[in-house]
Amino acid sequence: MSDRVVLLNPGPVTLTPRVRQAMLRADMCHREADFARMVLDVKGRLLEVYEGASAYDAVILTGSGTCAVEAMLAAHGKPHEVLRGEWLAPLDLGAVEERLRASDDIARVAAVHHETTTGRLNGVAGLARLCQKYGRGLLLDAVSSFGGEDIRFEEWGLEAVAATANKCLHAVPGMAFVVAHRAALEDADGSTRSVYLDLRRYYAEQRAGFSPFTQSVQACFALHEALLEMQETGGWVRRQARYRLISDAVRDRLGALGAAPLIPWSEASSMLSAFRLPDGLPYEVLHDTLRAAGFVIYAGQGALAGSIFRIATMGDIRDDDLDRLLASLVGVFRAVRR
Ligand SMILES: *Cc1c(COP(=O)(O)O)cnc(C)c1O
Repeated sequence: MSDRVVLLNPGPVTLTPRVRQAMLRADMCHREADFARMVLDVKGRLLEVYEGASAYDAVILTGSGTCAVEAMLAAHGKPHEVLRGEWLAPLDLGAVEERLRASDDIARVAAVHHETTTGRLNGVAGLARLCQKYGRGLLLDAVSSFGGEDIRFEEWGLEAVAATANKCLHAVPGMAFVVAHRAALEDADGSTRSVYLDLRRYYAEQRAGFSPFTQSVQACFALHEALLEMQETGGWVRRQARYRLISDAVRDRLGALGAAPLIPWSEASSMLSAFRLPDGLPYEVLHDTLRAAGFVIYAGQGALAGSIFRIATMGDIRDDDLDRLLASLVGVFRAVRR
């Protein structure tokens, strides 16, 4: 048995040897010109992942995805309202429109692109049309979709997008970033009480490649290499196709074994599949059996804990990994039905 571990959780992901190796390069000081050059290069490449981002700039932060989301919202003490929906239901655009029509004082709408809890890919195009119609900014949590799903900066009129290095971009945890419209980054009215997550301060200093605080230098090496690798292997379009191919194989095989999808696959993202646990198969048994075979899957969260399992297809998943995964899944599911 090999000691290869393949992560099928939605980030952090299995690294390619190339990205892992990149972290071993010579050390850099975060206040030296060589590191500043790398930061500028990473910022530029982040803006090149999608077309239509020429009016935007990228700000990189040391932290997990939540760090970027919080910096984007800079919501410390700012009034906000949560529009709740059914966990398994699609985005209720009618409810959003009703709220926007009723109040002029809502300046921005924040939404999650890929809802990692259920695997749903939210219809951002429709939400964007509403925000444009009512003249409100749209802030997107694209932590688990940036690099693996379509994001249309210009067409959707996005004000800002928060994401991370260690999901669809295939780098390591430790670097997160916000891609924001330059007008928003230069808006002096946007104040925050946060010292560490003051996006505008980072923006101002990072124009020269420097940052207010110590960046995770090695995580930046990894992100830089991961962006190069992504570009050389066909960008987000090819990556999405690869995710879909693996997801389809898993969905087909588990479907044939009687596993029910949590939401219709037509509404799901390319890279995450949530299944209901079949009767007689506790999550722990499924998890531990796959873990022994070298695969790490993901449990349900919140109200879905104990009733579902998730399989994400981000990261360096090779053809032989997929073959072994499918064989392992068939083994566990057949054993339950016996
Ligand atoms: C992973 C994820 C986050 C952030 O998680 P961290 O643990 O902070 O990296 C935020 N939003 C979505 C949609 C995610 O998938």
